Amino acid sequence: MGCRVRTEKSDLLRVVAVEGEALVPDRRGRLPGRGAYLHPDLRCLDLAERRRAFPRALRLTGPLDASALRQWLGEQEAAVPGSGTAATGQEEGDIT
Ligand SMILES: [Zn+2]
Repeated sequence: MGCRVRTEKSDLLRVVAVEGEALVPDRRGRLPGRGAYLHPDLRCLDLAERRRAFPRALRLTGPLDASALRQWLGEQEAAVPGSGTAATGQEEGDIT
């Protein structure tokens, strides 16, 4: 939805608006209401916000608060193994 890269739906994060204003991740796809599909990626969220894709996808007109979603995505990226500083340490270990 943000970057428009085609991806299997199972690889996308479903996002719903709670009470019509707060965007939250719906990892199990079980929250009620319309869902917007996004790559679980902060860049994709940025693009979606810039395009005002959320109001369009969710059929909402009011301002949407993406702070909870942004925080969740940040935590996911920090937890991914093989990215960030942890991976650099491992590569150094492999060389010796
Ligand atoms: Zn994307």
